[in-house]
Amino acid sequence: MSERAAPFYCPYCGDEDLRPNETGHGAWECASCNRAFQLKFLGLLTRGVQRNHVEGDGI
Ligand SMILES: [Zn+2]
Repeated sequence: MSERAAPFYCPYCGDEDLRPNETGHGAWECASCNRAFQLKFLGLLTRGVQRNHVEGDGI
């Protein structure tokens, strides 16, 4: 599973001028507010999908 989740907007200033940070691993930096942040996949929510044992899309 890929960890490449690309943000569209800076979570701090809302600007779209984001670029990958050199540290990688979901790290991004905002050229507008000069902040660096990191996206991290924490896992699936325990309440998850309504059904048990859903494999595939489940939508
Ligand atoms: Zn920003």
